[in-house]
Amino acid sequence: MPDPIRDTRYDVIIAGARCAGASTALLLARAGLRVLLVDPAARASDTLSTHALMRGAVLQLHRWGVLDEIRSAGTPEIRSTTFHYGDEVIAIPIKERDGLDALYAPRRTVLDAALVDAASDAGAEVAHGRAVSGLLTDDRGRVIGARMSGSDRETVTIRADLVIGADGINSRVARLLNAPVTHSAPHATASIYGYWKNLGLEGNHWYYAIGSAVGSIPTNGGETCVFASIPPARFEARRRDGLEELYSEVLREVSEDLARRVAGSGGPGKLRAFAGVPGFLRRGAGPGWALVGDAGYFRDPLTAHGISDALREAEFLARSVIDGREEALHAYDEARYERVRGFFEVTDRIASFDWDMDEVKEHHMVLAKEMNALIDMQRGFGAPTANHLASATASVPGGV
Ligand SMILES: Cc1cc2nc3c(=O)[nH]c(=O)nc-3n(C[C@H](O)[C@H](O)[C@H](O)COP(=O)(O)OP(=O)(O)OC[C@H]3O[C@@H](n4cnc5c(N)ncnc54)[C@H](O)[C@@H]3O)c2cc1C
Repeated sequence: MPDPIRDTRYDVIIAGARCAGASTALLLARAGLRVLLVDPAARASDTLSTHALMRGAVLQLHRWGVLDEIRSAGTPEIRSTTFHYGDEVIAIPIKERDGLDALYAPRRTVLDAALVDAASDAGAEVAHGRAVSGLLTDDRGRVIGARMSGSDRETVTIRADLVIGADGINSRVARLLNAPVTHSAPHATASIYGYWKNLGLEGNHWYYAIGSAVGSIPTNGGETCVFASIPPARFEARRRDGLEELYSEVLREVSEDLARRVAGSGGPGKLRAFAGVPGFLRRGAGPGWALVGDAGYFRDPLTAHGISDALREAEFLARSVIDGREEALHAYDEARYERVRGFFEVTDRIASFDWDMDEVKEHHMVLAKEMNALIDMQRGFGAPTANHLASATASVPGGV
């Protein structure tokens, strides 16, 4: 089979073609940069994640012209989010703002494929079935390209002015760079989730009890994703008894109503589990490289913000790459922690499960404020248009 990679030199190589990498590729390709996007996984494949998108992400997809594709894949509109604190129920309608009156929770098979297709339409070259396996550096340590291998075991070497690691929580690119962790969070949650039909629930529902939380998120195919989250120690102690039993137990203890709906909705689909990883922020850029998405910043999934973070940071990164000055890339890295600090900290407090109902409610108020602040930061984004990388990065001496 001919290699899908046509050239030996690009402006930017991006490792990882999901929400972070494909969004970055789309924005850079639209600005006229020559982008190579590679991922060992197949287009439209699934990954370990539930699906809630926050308003900021939906606004970006709308502005990028990708939301229509997601809607036309049958992704249901979500018009309310309901919080259940024990017996107290607080339903919040999704307000009409910025031309949007609904949220969406697309399956990753839908979202990631729509972003990859938009990147490809914008001119990015996309090579599924290839992984970045090494980095090329010059004699000053600047990254000047990457080695990639595929299932055929062939390795190709490609030059680029910038290599971006958007390759997820276990980022190979970050490891190859020895990118240091600059901030870490002590807590993590484990989750088990599955998909169910005919639950009879409208919108997103988040339910809290002391020591556990569950939630339901309507997604594609008439299905609702239902997750159960607990401290990792409980997950480890009980996983050998079977995921189904633990999942049902947690649903029952947090919401008998949701547990009944799930039990009545037919046989269990395949359950998926995440054992939990504490949050971290890594250094996000250096000479000839940058990290985006989970590769550079991971926060516990209980606040359902990883995809929204990935899309927002992809746009911040793309704007600094398009700006072209080395300082702009440095500024992307420097500003990241200030952008996310509040969110990162409150996510960790929620992930600790060390709260009562009043406290978790307060944490959610802080979360809502942080989310609005993050949306406000995006208001200045227009369509990126410039079409250059820094002459500093374009004239890298070659050879390793
Ligand atoms: C259980 C769970 C539930 C979650 N629920 C939500 C939610 O409801 N809402 C939300 O916003 N977030 C949620 N998240 C977080 C969200 O899934 C992540 O933040 C998001 O997937 C990060 O996107 P990414 O593009 O950075 O990385 P990923 O989605 O992890 O994609 C990385 C890609 O890089 C590829 N790759 C790996 N190595 C290489 C390599 N060497 N070269 C090239 N490519 C490579 C992989 O194949 C993969 O396709 C959840 C996470 C988990 C674990």
